[in-house]
Amino acid sequence: MDTEPQNQGPTLVDGMGRTIVNLRISVTDRCNFRCTYCMPADNVEFMDRVNLLSFEEVTRIATIASKMGINRLRLTGGEPLMRKDLPVLVNMLSNIDGIDDVAMTTNAFFLKESASALKDAGLKRLNVSLDALDPEKFRDVNRRDCLDQVLAGLAEASRVGFKSIKINAVAMRNFSETEIMSLIEMGRSDGFEIRFIEFMPLDSDRIWERDKVLFGHEIVDLIRGKYELVPIDNSLDIGPASEYRFADGKGKIGIITAVSNPFCDHCNRIRMTADGKLRTCLFSTHETNLKDILRSGGSDEDITLAIREAVRIKEPGHKINLDDFERPVRAMHAIGG
Ligand code: SAM
Ligand code: SF4
Repeated sequence: MDTEPQNQGPTLVDGMGRTIVNLRISVTDRCNFRCTYCMPADNVEFMDRVNLLSFEEVTRIATIASKMGINRLRLTGGEPLMRKDLPVLVNMLSNIDGIDDVAMTTNAFFLKESASALKDAGLKRLNVSLDALDPEKFRDVNRRDCLDQVLAGLAEASRVGFKSIKINAVAMRNFSETEIMSLIEMGRSDGFEIRFIEFMPLDSDRIWERDKVLFGHEIVDLIRGKYELVPIDNSLDIGPASEYRFADGKGKIGIITAVSNPFCDHCNRIRMTADGKLRTCLFSTHETNLKDILRSGGSDEDITLAIREAVRIKEPGHKINLDDFERPVRAMHAIGG
């Protein structure tokens, strides 16, 4: 007997047949750090504040997107906690029908004082960026001398009890090698999944070169020098990371091989910059200006059509490894990683 198809809800499918469920929302391009792989040391030109979407504008777009099939949101920046009253936005987004998950990526500097309010507002998951546990290396890469403050933020986030806390570390050759095992040990003892992200050509200083990337397979080999790792079959929940669990049962790690083995075929995400530009790839060289539609009195239908058209022509994949690769004009802090 034929069964009626289940109503799966709305879906947002791109021209390559990928279903888009994930929207990353940058709330500011400002940051209190100056990580070498992201921002210049000084003289950064930030967006004019009048161009930042208000919380109401962000919520309106997220609500429309949720009706199209987006069910997961992640707040990012710049440093999202530089945006005043962020828990208010978290609460607004968490209350949207159809949004199952609101997460945030942060450098954790302001987390000690805000973790509790964020949790109460509905934030479920947290990714904390932490590339080094050696204070001098931390200072060298983040250009700020504040490892203790970040660790205090992380400790408070743990105490508050988010559904998950992951640590993101950018993997750079001649830098990360000495930090990997100490990050791993911290993850195993404190219950954080450590995720290594291959350094991508999205830095403002344009220092990226392929030789400066510590590749995922090298990281796995290094860890396997001490621990047995077992690949996790995450075919049911495809994300950007290849995950491994420690054979002794104590924790897991993720490797994001954005350069050496891109996950574009499974990409299920789109991004919105703090000034309301929709980007369908980290490396997009074109954007859809949702802010102008919003601020010129566009209807929900106008915004829906603009999102659907942008998604329809989402890039099949990035071209870092091809001769015709073109770096996006925006650096990571202005895109929202
Ligand atoms: N400021 C927050 C933070 O650092 O977590 C959120 C924004 S930051 C742009 C988001 C993520 O992008 C961070 O985990 C950061 O490490 C990562 N990132 C920045 N530049 C990168 C690059 N060139 N290659 C790989 N990852 C990068
Ligand atoms: Fe700031 Fe995050 Fe970029 Fe570092 S990676 S400069 S913390 S936005």
